Amino acid sequence: MTRKTVVAVLAAVVGLTTLPSPAGAEGAHVNLYSYRQPFLMKPLLDAFTRKTGIKVNMVYAKTGMLERLKAEGRNSPADTVLTADIGRLTDLVRAGLVQPVVSAVLNANIPPQYRHPDGLWFGLTTRARVIYADKTRVKPGEVTTYEDLADPRFKGRICTRSGKHAYNISLLASFIAAKGEKAAEAWARALKSNLARRPQGNDRSQVRAIKEGECDVALGNSYYMGKMATNDKKPEQKAWAAAVTIIFPNQPRAGRPGGDALGRGTHVNLSGAAVTKSAKNRDNAIRLLEFLSGDFAQRIYAEQNFEYPVKPGVPLHPLVASWGTFKADTVHLTEVAKYRTAAAKIMDRVAFDH
Ligand code: FE
Repeated sequence: MTRKTVVAVLAAVVGLTTLPSPAGAEGAHVNLYSYRQPFLMKPLLDAFTRKTGIKVNMVYAKTGMLERLKAEGRNSPADTVLTADIGRLTDLVRAGLVQPVVSAVLNANIPPQYRHPDGLWFGLTTRARVIYADKTRVKPGEVTTYEDLADPRFKGRICTRSGKHAYNISLLASFIAAKGEKAAEAWARALKSNLARRPQGNDRSQVRAIKEGECDVALGNSYYMGKMATNDKKPEQKAWAAAVTIIFPNQPRAGRPGGDALGRGTHVNLSGAAVTKSAKNRDNAIRLLEFLSGDFAQRIYAEQNFEYPVKPGVPLHPLVASWGTFKADTVHLTEVAKYRTAAAKIMDRVAFDH
């Protein structure tokens, strides 16, 4: 979507900027800015309204949310923001757009690793950055770690999207957290030298490239497997998904215990929410987040996008469950966020995209 379209889409949301002040004649409400599509959110938001009587006004924006919030400043009608990737949540924090929230419900539902220590953001779903491997050209056990992707045996066999994308920056930042900047730079350089083609496209198009024989392995987020495998609108994507298997990198095993950097677990990122500094309906925003972190919403919310619920014990979508269980890297995502700038600089230094 172009910037112009985003502005047009945002401008088309009638009434939001002219709402009367909190809970006026309109009754209890909360204003939500969401990167998640309305048709996905609606069943959940309707359930929330039925349960609490609080109406949800939602603005959907695929991009440009940070810019919009910055431009609106204190006058922003947004009470809460839903977005994905620790990078984007951290950008909201750094821009001073969110406020701390203390909620016993949120703290009980969401493990500490997946929320900001001061309540500046809360994870709602998680996703693993996995390795997609061709079912026939990659032998079982041939690739089991991110580090393997730097090995010369993968020369010309790897595809990935841009090194500048938030997903790859966060992965590299997690690598820095585990092994330091020097090792991370060496890894990024070696990974680049193994690429089958210049970084391009999105995560799904890497799996397509595997299906088409351009490469054997790719980096991608786990939920895309579910989206491709069930895509009735673009059935060719089912064939892409059928060509690959999901490998959860860096699992502990004999000779690679959990305490070892190689057994640190798969990099996991999240989608999450924050309450804005400008929130005029703060309590209602918190109630919405509490609802989204509860058993009922967690199941639906995670299933819609083939993600993992943050709340322990919530059942997985059967397809997601079929990929198997795995250990997630336990490094706190605020720690990962600290290294994002360093990671972006490494991507530049190794000219990852060129
Ligand atoms: Fe994505």
